[in-house]
Amino acid sequence: MKPPIELLDFLKTEDRFVIATHINPDGDGIGSAIALSEALKQMGKRTLLLCRDAVPYICKYLPGSDRFFTYETVKTAAADISSYKNLILVDCNHPSRTGMDKVNDIPFDIRKSAVIDHHETDRDYGDIRWINREAPATAMMIYDLLKELGTRMSKDIADNIYAGILVDTGNFRHDNTSAEVLRIAADLVDAGAQPTQAYRSLFESWSNGRFLLFIKTLDTMEIKDGIAMVTITKKMFEETGTTADDTENFVEFPRIMKDINVSVFLREMDSDGYKVSLRSKGGFNVAKIAAEFGGGGHKNAAGCTVKGDLQTAKREILSRIKAS
Ligand code: 5GP
Ligand code: MN
Repeated sequence: MKPPIELLDFLKTEDRFVIATHINPDGDGIGSAIALSEALKQMGKRTLLLCRDAVPYICKYLPGSDRFFTYETVKTAAADISSYKNLILVDCNHPSRTGMDKVNDIPFDIRKSAVIDHHETDRDYGDIRWINREAPATAMMIYDLLKELGTRMSKDIADNIYAGILVDTGNFRHDNTSAEVLRIAADLVDAGAQPTQAYRSLFESWSNGRFLLFIKTLDTMEIKDGIAMVTITKKMFEETGTTADDTENFVEFPRIMKDINVSVFLREMDSDGYKVSLRSKGGFNVAKIAAEFGGGGHKNAAGCTVKGDLQTAKREILSRIKAS
């Protein structure tokens, strides 16, 4: 996966890059952003890492994860933000996915933008667009980019890229786990990435409250025509002392059943409506369903938000799935 020449030129000639990733960030967005930032640092460039939401606790083991600013902290802690004229979006391809389009007091003045992403759904944004829908993870694209840039693969960079790959291949289980993925993972381990630490932190660091929330969530499961649906309400978060960060991967579990082709997870939001996560097996394209609700994602993993009460949200999602 060769990065475009214009992207390489952009990174080599410019300085001061804001690197931003999507809201509700995951290991791929966080790891890709940090790895790119470290590579640019080796080239003597300045970077500023930005995300609307705080780094989830499961990603805090990643070297450099404490360097992220939110839209709140960036205003006070990064006084020189107004001198950053270049924006790079990673693991997303439009400012609406970063939430920055809704904040009008971030004091930066972007002159040139690039997107590095692997999502199936894309919108027209970016002076330089590198979108590879075949890439198993944005972190794989970052790996290729760093090879082209001649970056020294430090342990810190290797840990970050490894995290992105691990998360987006579901622990090397999803059908995007190719020989190339495994070769690159091995190369990263040679460079110092710690597979056990990554697995433990990303998948085996649940609190008691989170486990309790999981049990309650499974209790809400409804199954119909090969579709499993689970729900989390704000009350369930209160009862278990947990937050939205504690729901990562819950949507994966119903897929374990051999007759389930689509798994739907609805989480009640603070604002009106529900955040919906969709997962499928095989040919069923959930990105298309999510896109009908203004969301997006990949063929087997996608998301969107649905306004209104729970029954309406469930009915609308189910009917779109059945209709396709
Ligand atoms: P999750 O269900 O884990 O939040 O996200 C699954 C995939 O769908 C991820 O690749 C994520 O970036 C994408 N995704 C989730 N929610 C949205 C959304 O509201 N809009 C778009 N465009 N993509 C989403
Ligand atoms: Mn990704």
